[in-house]
Amino acid sequence: MRIAIGGIATESCTFSPLPTRLEDFRISRGADDAFTEPYPFLNKYPDIDFVGTITARALPGGPVEAAAYDAIKSELLGQLKSQGPFDGVYLDMHGAMNVAGMDDAEADLYSSIREIVGDDALLSASYDLHGNVSDRIMATLDIITGFRTAPHIDALETRARAMSLLLRCLRGGIRPRKAFVKIPVAMPGEKTSTEWEPGKRIYGAIEAQIDGRAVLDATIQVGYVWADEPRMTACAIAIGMNEEKISLAARELAALYWKHRRDFGFGAPALSVDDCLRQAMSDAVKPVLISDSGDNPTAGGAGDVTYFLSRALALEPKDMIYASIADPAAVRACIAAGLGAELDLQIGGKLDRLNSPPLDISGTVESIKSDADNPQVVLKTGGIHTILTGKRSVFHRRQQFIDLNLNPEEHEIIAVKIGYLEPELKTMARAAYLALSPGSVNQDITALPFRRIQRPCYPFDQDMDWRPTVQIF
Ligand SMILES: [Zn+2]
Repeated sequence: MRIAIGGIATESCTFSPLPTRLEDFRISRGADDAFTEPYPFLNKYPDIDFVGTITARALPGGPVEAAAYDAIKSELLGQLKSQGPFDGVYLDMHGAMNVAGMDDAEADLYSSIREIVGDDALLSASYDLHGNVSDRIMATLDIITGFRTAPHIDALETRARAMSLLLRCLRGGIRPRKAFVKIPVAMPGEKTSTEWEPGKRIYGAIEAQIDGRAVLDATIQVGYVWADEPRMTACAIAIGMNEEKISLAARELAALYWKHRRDFGFGAPALSVDDCLRQAMSDAVKPVLISDSGDNPTAGGAGDVTYFLSRALALEPKDMIYASIADPAAVRACIAAGLGAELDLQIGGKLDRLNSPPLDISGTVESIKSDADNPQVVLKTGGIHTILTGKRSVFHRRQQFIDLNLNPEEHEIIAVKIGYLEPELKTMARAAYLALSPGSVNQDITALPFRRIQRPCYPFDQDMDWRPTVQIF
């Protein structure tokens, strides 16, 4: 049996001014030694001939440039054509890609793949639960399965499940039926974590729906809310051989989601930037974590909005780490000036010019991390240690602070461009707040200029009736 592996994974904020270019993708090709690293489960299937094509993964950002998408897609299709035929294709996806000038980019990709591999091959995709699914996607894929945790601690498990479902179907000579229920609810990921209610209960209900071949798998997609596309919505999916049972499973999961739509909320007190800072400055514990949520790069923020930092400079906390502002020119200037040098800089506000201007700041270069790919420095201004990075960066791990000679536990406040706290940050936080800050992933979604999503949709339309409608593919 021959299985191809490929995929293009990113999450595109259509409100972001920052295009995602070809060089923003981390590309791995079948011939590379590291290609199979994300797929250690392949070792479980020594009798299968796995063929790597190309996988591309980019940090969330604005829409993907059409030329970048075309380049990756044509390489993937070229590999499928030259290395085929295949019994099946496993696609390592995210599910919320937007390509400039195109809706439903994933559907475009799957349709093109289908044309090459033919109708007999099975297509199986693993998704982030923040992917947006359309009718066309449901019609083209044979198997789709998504993460069941946010923060995402089951990425590997989900990839392994997409592969095992694919092989199970191929070995059994079966092609699953698919039940799809769109749920007209738009909800930011920060409110739908599976670590607290009602997300925990909703996602906890998936496992009980699975029932042998009848219901092979079930998935709930929160969807990706900062995408002004007609397909933007939550949904429930069940796949399997019993049409009645998959319909029931998808309907029940969708109804549960809908029932709790008004119960979703942030996992930490959500306040204005000033209120978060004042509260954190008066807390007796340390460190206090603050999420600068409107400019969270892992959701598509540019990573250089200066609003939060400008308010911190005005309110003067005694001791705060700010992570981070992407500004390669400022990093170069700090490195050139050297450790201990004092300098005046204008930082940030260059990638995202909409949400706040560049910020004038004076400080002392306190730490330098030389790294050819992404050099980083710490600039100290009063009690604030500002981390500046060469590339858009996310600070999810303790070691990233240690690498800059900042011991997180010794500082009073740590502000990070993030939404809900990733596991290591959560472990270190003695208290946490979510700042409702400006940026292209603003948490106040009703304030965003949506024009193309399907209405009615909660929370834009508060008083609407809805009953689950099952579509079978
Ligand atoms: Zn996600």
